[in-house]
Amino acid sequence: MIEANQIEMIVKKIMTEMALKDEASAPAYGIFDHMEEAIEAAWAAQKELVKYSLECRGKFIAAMRAAARKNIELFSKMAVEETGMGRYEHKVMKNTVAIDKTPGIEDLKPDAVSGDHGLTLFELSPYGVIGAITPTTNPTETVICNAIGMIAAGNAVVFAPHPRAKNTSRKAIEVLNQAIIEAGGPANLITAIKEPTIESANIMMQHKKIKMLVATGGPDVVKTVLSSGKKAIGAGAGNPPAVVDETADIEKAAKDIIDGCSFDNNLPCVAEKEVIVVDTVADYLIFNMKKHNAYLITDESLIQKLEKIVFNEKGHLNRDLVGKNADFILKMIGVDCDPEVRAIILETNKDHPFVQEELMMPILPIVRVKDIDEAIELAVEVEHGYRHTAIIHSKNIDNLSKMAKEIQTTIFVKNGPSYAGIGVGGEGYSTFTIAGPTGEGLTTAKSFTRSRRCVLVDGFSIR
Ligand code: NAD
Repeated sequence: MIEANQIEMIVKKIMTEMALKDEASAPAYGIFDHMEEAIEAAWAAQKELVKYSLECRGKFIAAMRAAARKNIELFSKMAVEETGMGRYEHKVMKNTVAIDKTPGIEDLKPDAVSGDHGLTLFELSPYGVIGAITPTTNPTETVICNAIGMIAAGNAVVFAPHPRAKNTSRKAIEVLNQAIIEAGGPANLITAIKEPTIESANIMMQHKKIKMLVATGGPDVVKTVLSSGKKAIGAGAGNPPAVVDETADIEKAAKDIIDGCSFDNNLPCVAEKEVIVVDTVADYLIFNMKKHNAYLITDESLIQKLEKIVFNEKGHLNRDLVGKNADFILKMIGVDCDPEVRAIILETNKDHPFVQEELMMPILPIVRVKDIDEAIELAVEVEHGYRHTAIIHSKNIDNLSKMAKEIQTTIFVKNGPSYAGIGVGGEGYSTFTIAGPTGEGLTTAKSFTRSRRCVLVDGFSIR
């Protein structure tokens, strides 16, 4: 006699085998074994894409958005599970803005000049095949955002995802490709390889059929694409300071800062990485941060313990703590806390590595200064000239203007959480590739085009 639990085990085994078989036989939309094949397929697809009307291109983009929307939960779950970083509910929000607020073909506006000698048209044309390198911190968001912008501009794209997010990135690529095909478009407009590595990314960067490179990641990869000899967009690291002066709505500033710094466990490059506060309001700010689930550490020995786990002996960031929950990090230094705790706050001096380094975990150092001038000067210093993101909480127009002028960041958020700068709760479109180093800013379809001049001599000037 077969027992009930044995039957259950047999059924489970059969179902697992069937699922594996399904997976093995499922069409791999855009995924190849070798980089050369991925590039050739994307190259052929781009040649097809430009034969379609703009209206069709718009339909492909709409289909990509609809298909991605159906998979938001899956993408967010996979990203947290595969990378071990971030928070599911925030990844849902990030994927949602990437899908809904990344501009499509409407971003490509031609320009024209007409006069006695005819009409000159300035058109935005595709590059061809773009090689895009994407980070672990926003794996599907970057794939979705880049793919929409690049294809809207008439390109195909070969992705080189971070190896630690390969399955999640692959899933997003497959979903988007399938949607394009089902909408009547060419296969392989978006490609990648099964096992991405730094070496395969380098093969891609050097390939003659890749006409533009877009790197979203830390300083190394930005430097690499900028030395490739190709047209490159570099979206690099940030270390966003949040300044608070004595005129700010302190209760709101505290909430906004904790919301921003704990968003996806501080993974976003725009997230508040240090607070610089005018001394007279510092205590009240900290008091209010605690009300919003920030855990204050004052014990010097605990701060040192925290430093020891955040950095290794060589002073390098411990990647295992990047994107982890605050209560998980606290537990590692022997502090048991409510799982509701979202951020760890502590006072430090300006030279502390917590202030100087981009930690990408919910640890927020706070530095007191005597006045707004010192605050702005320090914010400029700790932003390290990345020109990425900065935040200020103030009601003084002169202070707001002064910081905007001096910090020169691509994103400058006033009186809100950092993520308002990428369209979550703030006005404006969204992007997950913020190109400070190369100056394109918040990239859109237009950033992935070449400007071409089309001149008709002595005709079509009808004024
Ligand atoms: P990372 O730099 O470790 O990796 C980013 C990508 O670059 C990955 O695909 C990786 O495989 C690749 N890569 C890294 N070094 C390379 C090299 N030498 N040659 C070729 N490829 C290389 O970054 P991460 O941990 O995945 O992401 C976090 C970093 O990215 C942070 O510094 C963050 O600020 C930055 N970031 C910037 C933006 C932006 O829009 N500016 C957006 C997201 C993340």
